[in-house]
Amino acid sequence: MINKDKIKKFRDLRTPFYYYDLEVLNNTLSTLRKESEKHGYIVHYAVKSNANPRILQIISSYGFGADCVSWNEIDAALKAGFDPSRIVFAGVGKSDLEISNALKAGIFCFNCESIPEIEVIDDLAQSLGTIARIALRINPLVEAHTHKYITTGIEESKFGIHTWELDNVMNRLTELKNTELIGMHFHIGSQITKLSVFQSLCTHINELNEWFSSRGRELKIINVGGGLGIDYENPETYPMFSEYINLLHEFLDLKAGQELHMEPGRAVTGQCGSLISKVLYVKNGSNTLFAIIDAGMTDLIRPALYQAHHKIENLTSRGDLYRYDVVGPICESSDTFAKFIELPETKRGDIVAIRSAGAYGEVMASRYNLRELPAAVFSDEV
Ligand SMILES: *Cc1c(COP(=O)(O)O)cnc(C)c1O
Repeated sequence: MINKDKIKKFRDLRTPFYYYDLEVLNNTLSTLRKESEKHGYIVHYAVKSNANPRILQIISSYGFGADCVSWNEIDAALKAGFDPSRIVFAGVGKSDLEISNALKAGIFCFNCESIPEIEVIDDLAQSLGTIARIALRINPLVEAHTHKYITTGIEESKFGIHTWELDNVMNRLTELKNTELIGMHFHIGSQITKLSVFQSLCTHINELNEWFSSRGRELKIINVGGGLGIDYENPETYPMFSEYINLLHEFLDLKAGQELHMEPGRAVTGQCGSLISKVLYVKNGSNTLFAIIDAGMTDLIRPALYQAHHKIENLTSRGDLYRYDVVGPICESSDTFAKFIELPETKRGDIVAIRSAGAYGEVMASRYNLRELPAAVFSDEV
């Protein structure tokens, strides 16, 4: 909770900064642990959503694994106490150096997206005298029997291996001696709030599971990826872990000995973070009032990049409601956080909170316009 005491202290801090509410983070993590443990599911936190060292340490202290998309993320996860045997490495473009480093670190599994990538991993594993455990990231958007969609799939997505390629992949794997196929992996998108989407994913996974076992391959790991959304309209709400995990339990037909893994990112870190900023100027436009704040798209790029919506609150005004466009100081028109939103009368010096900014916020900050990177402030520090 951002109470009066906190707001008073915010006034003395250099803005903008990310404010992390540890109570929200810990509540989120304990719910996720409780719900996943019910069924023995294994969680790999998607580090790319927030790689702040303290956040990583807190998440690792719950015993979760990590889902990483670069060597630097693996390195950060290791430094934060994640166990290498619980780290998975995803991404369409893993470099040779990243693969070698990950092999040397003894990570659990490479989630692979193409035959050429698997060949390089095999090669590097051989030169290091080791065996790489791999899972295939399969692109479930493609219905193997619908030719039209296959074509669309090829054109649209750089991610994953198409189902029609699986025969080739399996054949190639029999020739590779330093890779061991242990699982299949999926990641169908992000900010998914309709749980029925995950139900379709389950149906697809069940079919593939049958396909592998009909070829005498029992894969130990089924990794459903991440993507569970959060409610950006209602920053106080928690993600639907219980509904999500129950749905997986109900609709996935796991075979004996198969483990279910998942990789939530946004759902873990989204609601614990707010971007705190000060109003610099209020300026009259021809049809609107601009509230120009000292945070910009360099601090939180989601609205500019994906037209994402974040709830914005003026923490220091209780005046009458007016309509504002809330914009940043960066020299780009897309540097707009919200258009025509209602805020209590806003003036220079007011403190605003851009809510639900814990995921894909601080971690995507840049120094464009040579701005300072935003600081991180934790609720037990102020
Ligand atoms: C980004 C990503 C995730 C996390 O996605 P969220 O939508 O933040 O849950 C999980 N797995 C993979 C492979 C990813 O690329």
